[in-house]
Amino acid sequence: MKILWNNKIVDESEVKIDTEDRGYQFGDGIYEVIRIYDGLLYMEEEHLERFWRCAEKIRLTLPFTKEEFSQRLHQFAEEVGIKNGRLYFQVTHGTSKPRFHAFPEPQKVMPVLTADIQETSRPLEKLSKGIKGGFVPDKRWLHCDIKSISLLGNILALNEAQENGYDDAILVRDGFVTEASSSNLWMVKDGVIYTHPDGELILPGITKIKVRELAKDLGIELVEEPFTKERLADADECFKTSSVAEVMPIISIDGKNIGDGTPGTITKQLQAAYIEAIEKSVKKM
Ligand code: PMP
Repeated sequence: MKILWNNKIVDESEVKIDTEDRGYQFGDGIYEVIRIYDGLLYMEEEHLERFWRCAEKIRLTLPFTKEEFSQRLHQFAEEVGIKNGRLYFQVTHGTSKPRFHAFPEPQKVMPVLTADIQETSRPLEKLSKGIKGGFVPDKRWLHCDIKSISLLGNILALNEAQENGYDDAILVRDGFVTEASSSNLWMVKDGVIYTHPDGELILPGITKIKVRELAKDLGIELVEEPFTKERLADADECFKTSSVAEVMPIISIDGKNIGDGTPGTITKQLQAAYIEAIEKSVKKM
């Protein structure tokens, strides 16, 4: 597999990451995942904006401009040649010695970046049948808006849900639903869509930006306010969104059907609109 390693494209066997890398030692880094459809890096600009925002939040100065990085990603994608996949990239604060928690002075470290592209197909069966969710307490930290490489909170939650026989965790903090383990979470009640507002309790999804637009185009009311797990259990429809899962129906929670236990009408409308939007962007390329 080819890896973009800082500004070089190399075979994965050539990548050397120092054991003192702060990503390895402390989880001190951030990442992004962009879906590639027919060679198009879908919503690239929005992903890069979030990456830069998150870098700022962890006081990491990226050693290139957005334009330079975008060019580098395009060159990398071209060279790898995978037309449908997911581009994953992460950057850490790099190596600082001696090992010490506090952030190093920017001029004393060089951030370390790696990127790879894996072939991915759309999860068609799940998109049409839906998946099962299970409530799990949201025990993550209070900087969920940072797309941190430290994912243990999310991993533990997903693991707990899967141990209980569910496909994904629906996270609940103080009685309110925040998001799923790696997606934003939505419900529909009486024709209105609800989702948790952006802030420090969830990751502001890029797919969420698109769904906002699509709901507006379709004339469906969207309210961004926290809702309780009881309201969600009583919803007509539920779905989650992410670059990889797209608009994914959730048909039951904790073994209890949502609506009639099949993907809902508005969910299906949004799914179709989402694919249409991708196809339009691919055509414009
Ligand atoms: N929330 C969490 C916790 C996530 O990990 C993700 C996936 N990156 C999302 C939401 C959805 O983000 P996006 O739509 O940008 O993929």
